[in-house]
Amino acid sequence: MSRKSSENQAFSLKIISWYKANPRELPWRGTTDPYKIWLSEIILQQTRVAQGLPYYYAFSETYPTVKDLALAPESEVLRLWQGLGYYSRARNLHSCAKFIWYELGGIFPNTYSELLKLKGVGSYTAAAISSFAFGEVKAVVDGNVFRVLARYFGIDTDIASGKAKIEFETLANKLIPNENPGEYNQAIMDFGARLCVPKNPDCPKCPLKETCFAYQKNLVKDLPVKINKTKVKERNLHYYVIRCGENWVWKKRKSGDIWEGLHDFPHSEGEPAPYLGISEEKPRLIPKKYRHILSHQRLNASFSELEIPLEKHQELSKWCENEGYLLVAENEIEYLAKPKLIVNFLTDQGI
Ligand code: SF4
Repeated sequence: MSRKSSENQAFSLKIISWYKANPRELPWRGTTDPYKIWLSEIILQQTRVAQGLPYYYAFSETYPTVKDLALAPESEVLRLWQGLGYYSRARNLHSCAKFIWYELGGIFPNTYSELLKLKGVGSYTAAAISSFAFGEVKAVVDGNVFRVLARYFGIDTDIASGKAKIEFETLANKLIPNENPGEYNQAIMDFGARLCVPKNPDCPKCPLKETCFAYQKNLVKDLPVKINKTKVKERNLHYYVIRCGENWVWKKRKSGDIWEGLHDFPHSEGEPAPYLGISEEKPRLIPKKYRHILSHQRLNASFSELEIPLEKHQELSKWCENEGYLLVAENEIEYLAKPKLIVNFLTDQGI
């Protein structure tokens, strides 16, 4: 064995023995059901384990099989996903389940390259499912793995660049052992999530410290290198909360903007409109302002209320029909899938 490959082997063995000595009970660990693994991986993308856990339980209990998920209405799936953000994940999850059920006869793809063809499944998720469920020797490379490898091997390539993906995947695939590749993948992800954490990792307790480049050269704070080029857009949204007795006017969001398929209220951007087409009354501004941060947008939201008298109910429903709005009874609101910003507003209103 060359010196290089024995060093790589030592790295993998130390990571695995750390993992065995520091077990973490997670409901999807130990399963080889690709559906459950896929569910957990999609839920955990851009989400911390503690936040994702209740969603994993809710989804795996409501939809124990890919068939159950495929046959569920999209509105129900989005409602269950509510609060987790990045809703395209939920839509992809659902359309993927339908594809597996209707096009693949309910049989989950069982290789890395077949898994990659699924909507919303990138190289990371395909590697996770193929190694955990089918023992394929494919290394996962997520944010945790980037960090561990960049620090341990002293790699200063910008991890946000396309070049980094290839460089780190090549290295990771040299490190992964042929035996129990799934265990190694879980181990390195856990190692990054719990020991080699972004801020102040506990290096003195790390089994890799003697040979870790960053620790030895005092560069732990400087690695990995990430040049953030994401431009964040500021948006001012003004919502109109229009009520007529027990009915509220809602809007189902369309594609081409944030929150596709979720429900919010009619709104305008920039300055609030003084009057709405349905009434000569001025909407009453609610003083509290709301701020909501998404990955590429910062939303500043304000709300105005408008009460429509009961005798104008018919006129209101016609207006809603023309404008593409929905009239929803107050006791039905909880069943609508809504963005967190709107949930926060409703909570403040005691709904
Ligand atoms: S020594 Fe510190 S920086 Fe290096 S791998 Fe261990 S925890 Fe990470």
